Amino acid sequence: MAEQHKRMLDAIAADAADTARLTGRKTLSAPVMAAMAKVRRDRFVPETEAPYAYVNRPRPIGHGQTISQPFVVALMTDLLDLAPGDRVLEIGTGSGYQAAVLAEIGARVFTIEVVEALARRATEVLKKQGYGTVEVRFGDGYKGWPEQAPFDAVIVTAAPEKIPDALVAQMKPGARMVVPVGRQGDAQALYRCVKRDDGELDCRNVLPVAFVPMVDEKPKDERKRLWP
Ligand code: SAH
Repeated sequence: MAEQHKRMLDAIAADAADTARLTGRKTLSAPVMAAMAKVRRDRFVPETEAPYAYVNRPRPIGHGQTISQPFVVALMTDLLDLAPGDRVLEIGTGSGYQAAVLAEIGARVFTIEVVEALARRATEVLKKQGYGTVEVRFGDGYKGWPEQAPFDAVIVTAAPEKIPDALVAQMKPGARMVVPVGRQGDAQALYRCVKRDDGELDCRNVLPVAFVPMVDEKPKDERKRLWP
């Protein structure tokens, strides 16, 4: 493994220790750290970004989007408490890196991306990197993926203003959801939720975060009316 990749793992471990008071997780699980060690982040970013791929920061991936910070990818994966074979729905494929990490720990991954060019690129990279079992769909994440529901876990990697109902409906009882909630520019919070048997979510605020907004398909004039 390259020296810079090792340094990234150290940075993740340090961030986990530093945020333990908030997250309740001083160390991340061995399978999650093994996946972070295995997946080649430099292969998921644009070529010009490859030299910075192992810096513990979000980086641009084009189309105004970013690949999340490695620590955040690792923490969100850890918070899903996955078992091998779990069916996971990801909203916001972006580079495909988070999906690869999920596949590496043995999850069956379904991921949705609203920018067609990113969906196409991620599909190719995932296949090339040996994660051809990941299913990528170009579409609107607010609707989820009803044909593949129910899921054991849902991970949202763009921030909605509130948790979309359709995604909750597609979770099994006991399923976990990790989601950043809040308007861009305002404080966003990363939530970890568990679906109760009665269908409601129990959510815990884990950490302040900054994600790109989850875009919606509302017509522009309606958007103006809601958020002048
Ligand atoms: N998980 C990604 C990082 C994603 S950045 C990775 O590992 O690289 C957030 C992504 O969510 C962006 O690619 C953005 O286009 C996408 N996105 C935003 N709104 C969305 C929506 N409504 N449905 C699906 N994807 C959306």
